[in-house]
Amino acid sequence: MSMTLSQYSGGFRKTAVSFWHGLSITMSHLFRRPSTVQYPDRTPQPVRDMLPPRYRGFLEVDTAICTGCQACERACPIACMQITLEKDPTNPKQRLVTQFDIDEAKCMYCGLCVEPCPTGSIQHTREFEASMRNIRNLVFRWADPLKPFPVYKVEKGAEYFPRAPLGSLVRAKLDNLRWDEEAVEYLPPAPPAPVAAPAPVAAAAAAPPPAAPTTPETK
Ligand code: SF4
Ligand code: SF4
Repeated sequence: MSMTLSQYSGGFRKTAVSFWHGLSITMSHLFRRPSTVQYPDRTPQPVRDMLPPRYRGFLEVDTAICTGCQACERACPIACMQITLEKDPTNPKQRLVTQFDIDEAKCMYCGLCVEPCPTGSIQHTREFEASMRNIRNLVFRWADPLKPFPVYKVEKGAEYFPRAPLGSLVRAKLDNLRWDEEAVEYLPPAPPAPVAAPAPVAAAAAAPPPAAPTTPETK
């Protein structure tokens, strides 16, 4: 089927109209106020303060009100929490939490661990910014094996459990991870230092002088 001249020129016209239509949309955006904000340094307040209160960011554990019941650990569907308890050697009736690790890199922020906590010790915060030099630094260790914390004893009939301001504990931990030696603890070993090549001047000085050219004897 052959194309007529009018159909051929009509294609050109449609192309030109479409081109100018797209260009006019692009040009119109040049003169509008931007609808985006420069992140993170030009926001009116920290981004975490602009998030909704029920935002599921990094988990935080207030060890002062943790009963060591391990309900949160059992509720986690992907086993990214590790809690270990031991008896206090000085007081057999007291239990100590020697390990309370949460792998925030593995966590899927489902919130299932928060639900069964009897005291509200474990909570999601609005903290989410944690650029680390090593992903293993995102394992947040809430118990120190050298200084294990005693489990909290719930008083009979208690309905209120005093908790540290939400987010303050995880913020302090993030600051420590970024700047303290702990951050370096998990870094991979440094590569071996490169062997320095000898300086060209020194090498030339150490080399024996070139032999003088021999000329054939004349008789
Ligand atoms: S938020 Fe979900 S995935 Fe993360 S530790 Fe809690 S239960 Fe596990
Ligand atoms: S954080 Fe809550 S649920 Fe988890 S061990 Fe402590 S008291 Fe139990």
